[in-house]
Amino acid sequence: MTDFLITNIAHGLVGDAAGTRFSGALRVRDGLVAEIGDLAREPGERVLDARGTVVTPGLVNTHHHLFQSLLKAVPDGINAGLDTWLQKCPYAFWPFIDAETLRVSAQVGLAEVLLSGATTVCDHHYLFAPQYDYDPAEVLFDEAAKFGIRFLLARGGNTKGREYFDDPSLPPAFFEPAAAFLASVKDAARRWHDPSDLAMTRMALAPTTPIFNLDPHELPLFADAARDIGLRLHSHLSENQTYVDYTLREYGQRPVPWLAERGWTGPDVWFAHLVEIDAAEQAHLVETGTAMAHCTQANARLGSGIAPADLLHAQGGIVSIGVDGAGANEAADMGAAMYSAFATHRATKGVNSTRAETVLHWATQGGARTLGFDRIGTLEVGKAADIALFDLSHPRNFGLHDPALAPVITGAAQVRDSFVGGKPVVVDGRLPSLDLAELRAEAEEKTARLIALRAGAVG
Ligand code: ZN
Repeated sequence: MTDFLITNIAHGLVGDAAGTRFSGALRVRDGLVAEIGDLAREPGERVLDARGTVVTPGLVNTHHHLFQSLLKAVPDGINAGLDTWLQKCPYAFWPFIDAETLRVSAQVGLAEVLLSGATTVCDHHYLFAPQYDYDPAEVLFDEAAKFGIRFLLARGGNTKGREYFDDPSLPPAFFEPAAAFLASVKDAARRWHDPSDLAMTRMALAPTTPIFNLDPHELPLFADAARDIGLRLHSHLSENQTYVDYTLREYGQRPVPWLAERGWTGPDVWFAHLVEIDAAEQAHLVETGTAMAHCTQANARLGSGIAPADLLHAQGGIVSIGVDGAGANEAADMGAAMYSAFATHRATKGVNSTRAETVLHWATQGGARTLGFDRIGTLEVGKAADIALFDLSHPRNFGLHDPALAPVITGAAQVRDSFVGGKPVVVDGRLPSLDLAELRAEAEEKTARLIALRAGAVG
């Protein structure tokens, strides 16, 4: 079903920065938005009634770690800040994540974001340990294809470990030599990176952090290698003060200007977090079109702070929304992510710091611009029919004077139907390809296995 007509749209949002609304009907032809407005049904045309929903572009999640979906509420990490949490959560468990565990974890994470409105996901998989006997990229692309979601793999990895990880119970650090890292990225890109504007699969080159996990001389080499094959650059940056202290101490510069000198800013670069950026760094990001994946909830959960997404946006910068990994954000869905972005800035900076329509723009067009997809992120003629219809049937949506804002301001966004390129991915609130009860049982089993293996390793 890639040709159909959505009728009775009372609350439609285009996804643009102005918060433009539309109503009436939306026609999909060949997986594209063909017409919007007061449209009559054509003979034989299939119809989807939008009554009781809010219609938006499919949401774009620009930073996730699907391998963490079975690492929620790890006791040693639940009250830890970022630097300790990294050791107690992902780096304590990585050797035990086998192919099947990653598969189940990816299914859990993808189900969560799909049911809350995402139609495009960027997964930053930073655990490319040479010790693995499977290819995480293969598992992730495979699972994304089963769900029908548009998927960008930000291929992570390290050429060196972080020096301050000094917990003796941790598994040994893993790293790949630079040449092997780049060769692997090129091989994977040949297989999965589709540069076309309606691509279902793409890749980016994405070391875990450019500051801690590559040698400085490798930074321009990696940037050039990525650009040579048309990949964007992604990574974590300035998630907390540790990043800033480190580059100031080691290199005498703050992170953004230091990376800029090594080719790591520009319109093909986006960073997750950017909590600790000063005014000059913000200005540089705006000027160069370097985008932010705003991960409000993980930053809150880890006590890292609040990224100045509102200021970046106000200056014309590109802001998007990422749920980040569920190991540091148990509420790893798009509705919670949007609500927290909406509420957090207001709590600290007043009601004029963020509008609901702006947050939706970050989660749609902002995400598309961040990932470099020119034909998703807004509902306009000629764009891909990546569409979310948010369900208003839950009591939390009763009594709304302006129902269009519901997906952002009620704290939970539930999708009734969604489409990727006109193909249904959520149907009547369910994922057609998924047996949820079976996934729950598998998730329980794999989580128990992770707990047992880690306990056995600690002794
Ligand atoms: Zn992250």
